[in-house]
Amino acid sequence: MEYYLDVILPITLQRAFTYHITEAEADFIKVGMRVAVPFGKNKIYTALAYRIHNNPPLIYEAKTIHQILDETPIITEPQLKHWEWIASYYMCSVGEVMRAALPNALILESETIISRNTEILVKDVDLKDDEFLIFEALQFQTSLKIQDVISILDKKRVLPVIKGMVEKGILKLHEEIYEKYQPKLVRYVKLAQGLKTEEKLQELLEMLSRAPKQREVVLTLFTLEAQKNVPIKVAELTKASGSSSAIIRTLIDKAILEEFHIQKDRIEYQGDSASDIKQLSAVQEEALVTVEHHFEEKSVTLLHGVTSSGKTEIYVNLIKKQIESGKQVLYLLPEIALTTQLVERLQHYFGEHVAVFHSRYSSNERVEVWHNLLSQKSKAQLIVGARSAMLLPFSDLGLIIIDEEHEQSFKQFDPAPRYHARDAAIVLANYHKAKILLGSATPSLESYFNATKGKYGLVELKTRYNNVLMPDIELVDLADKYKRKRMKGHFSDRLIEEMTLALEEGQQIILFQNRRGFSPIVECVTCGHSPQCPNCDVSLTYHQYRDQLRCHYCGFNTIMPKTCDACGNATLDTKGFGTEQIEEEVKVLFPDHKVARMDLDTTRGKFGFEKLITNFEQGEIDVLVGTQMLTKGLDFRNVKLVGIMNADNLLNFPDFRAHERSYQLMAQVAGRAGRTDLRGKVLIQTYNPHHRILQQVSTNAYEDMFKEQMNDRYNYHYPPIFRLIKITFKHKDYNKVNLASDWFAKSLRQVFKANVLGPEFPPISRIRNLYNKNILVKIPQNQSLPKTKEAIMKIHNSFNAVKDFRPVRVVLNIDNY
Ligand code: ADP
Ligand code: ZN
Repeated sequence: MEYYLDVILPITLQRAFTYHITEAEADFIKVGMRVAVPFGKNKIYTALAYRIHNNPPLIYEAKTIHQILDETPIITEPQLKHWEWIASYYMCSVGEVMRAALPNALILESETIISRNTEILVKDVDLKDDEFLIFEALQFQTSLKIQDVISILDKKRVLPVIKGMVEKGILKLHEEIYEKYQPKLVRYVKLAQGLKTEEKLQELLEMLSRAPKQREVVLTLFTLEAQKNVPIKVAELTKASGSSSAIIRTLIDKAILEEFHIQKDRIEYQGDSASDIKQLSAVQEEALVTVEHHFEEKSVTLLHGVTSSGKTEIYVNLIKKQIESGKQVLYLLPEIALTTQLVERLQHYFGEHVAVFHSRYSSNERVEVWHNLLSQKSKAQLIVGARSAMLLPFSDLGLIIIDEEHEQSFKQFDPAPRYHARDAAIVLANYHKAKILLGSATPSLESYFNATKGKYGLVELKTRYNNVLMPDIELVDLADKYKRKRMKGHFSDRLIEEMTLALEEGQQIILFQNRRGFSPIVECVTCGHSPQCPNCDVSLTYHQYRDQLRCHYCGFNTIMPKTCDACGNATLDTKGFGTEQIEEEVKVLFPDHKVARMDLDTTRGKFGFEKLITNFEQGEIDVLVGTQMLTKGLDFRNVKLVGIMNADNLLNFPDFRAHERSYQLMAQVAGRAGRTDLRGKVLIQTYNPHHRILQQVSTNAYEDMFKEQMNDRYNYHYPPIFRLIKITFKHKDYNKVNLASDWFAKSLRQVFKANVLGPEFPPISRIRNLYNKNILVKIPQNQSLPKTKEAIMKIHNSFNAVKDFRPVRVVLNIDNY
């Protein structure tokens, strides 16, 4: 009997790949264990064992596996089922889901190892200088890595030298794989056995009387050990005894101290143990009871509560019960940068049960969360993370909370899997028979629609906690203000008045502008030319702080020219405005107050964001200017005033969701105002004060907005009434993209008739030198989704059979929100 193993490779491969294994291996390997396998040309990949069987592959000869990497599976059964569902629903390979799920450090790398070919005799004189250096190094060590050669030769291009030496038969190459995860070992010391009695210690101290520093170390360690009765870290000892690690090293060498290592998690909760959760108000209590009541019949419930209504405290109550019953909880947030505040709050209640799965954590740190969850440790019972946390090895989920469920960052765009974390989490919950709570002050139309239809439970909180009033929202007519010369820069007199008032009262201000940089367009007033990105079809944004023009799509940047590239006149002017310009204007208007800016440019780095938030919380910043980043669930005590600098570019965005999104964004920014006893004030500057969405935002009329927008969705056949699949074509050749997408659209129309839109260029038709063109397929409710996808795949296959089309990249995006 022959044995075969199907594996999942972390790449785009529609089928599992099969390897030959021995009977003993077949006995040992379990689904979900990692195996190293050869694939392609001399490459070794980390794969996951998927299925063991006795059928050889038909069209290729099965190779043998290279190595088994685990003793036990590193993924769980429901996790694998969920990955398969994601692959099938979002039309990608399981390998791509695996790639998105596994922390990098769990995917071993193969590396080229260089060694000497001992079978031939080499004479130094035959070697060139570079060759000699490598050869010499290999006299002292048995092997070298490419990186070693780079430092030996002190240059980047070393491959030609190595290749030459391989051809001459001097060197041999082979691939070796290595584990990237490095456990963190903490160094401890203790007094050597036999020295621990008072008597021995006295002897020892006498012996060390002429080495006072060493004596001090021994004495300190003895005291610490007696006091604490826990292992003493080397770091702690050096500090307490005021010595150096060299002295400790000497004592270890003298066998007076013994060192040992303990493996530690990198992220450990340091605070006190958990404290009591807050007493819910009567309104919150009622909402909680209703949520639980819905859960008896429905797996999903939507908690629609205005900003600051105390939703988080309701989640906390639900989480507490789950943790007490030993279940796992997943808490999904839209953007992980914004977790700091929430994680602190959750740790306050749940102490070390909280584990954060954070894209800004190092890969090693993420591996630790993975393993803690896999072994069902209580320290990973409540997982907080952004969308990819949903792909972790859960085995016993009781509850999933999706906070700010309307946020579009729950949808992954590139690369595959292009999943929507909210929708995929609902499927995940079903595998565990877990419950899902969606929470938002501004639910997505999808979720609210499902709730009104009775598919989801619905619970509404219409008042803020402690009866704090909803902010007072005022619309400021920009056209009128400009006409009557009531503007200073981009600030209306009303905004300046309210800012002055708030600052006089010692309150804080948030100003929202959804563009970063100084101004999005630079234009020559003489000839009208405006500098464009060489790789993308967009104008370059002026960043005054660095005196640069930058592309926000590909990162291209160049120094701001003094004169126009086209006509040579020094008449370049800026148009439109971004956060940088607003910040500058605030500095001029309120020179005695501190202003800061929060956008992509100021929050890079691991703690960039946290630092700004802390500074703002501690009152070191009076005015915070920012983009979208400001909106997401931040809870600030002293913000009295929120200003939206210009509502119009939100409303005019060319997308069927623009109005829904504008409502959500503005209601969320407005929600940052007045969270304690004083009533918040919001000013929205706009050229369209009569716009329905602005009226709805200013009167907090979510349901009106919902009804009106749903009307449009019915009429124009958009989600949540119809489903959407977007097919994007990408290629650097403009004509190729046109031909390919036209062909595809024509074939689609034969099947789906009028439900095919496009092909059409998006507003920015070229990004990073690739032209993009989109086709939308609309799917009516009564049309089978699997059959639709099948038909699309069929067309895709015929498409790939056309040689001219094959180089065109086709991207399928299901439920393109
Ligand atoms: P939401 O999540 O709906 O925006 P939060 O849960 O953040 O609202 O609550 C808003 C504020 O009210 C927070 O500062 C929170 O600490 C406070 N709060 C909410 N519920 C209670 C409660 N039951 N007791 C005391 N404070 C509460
Ligand atoms: Zn660009």
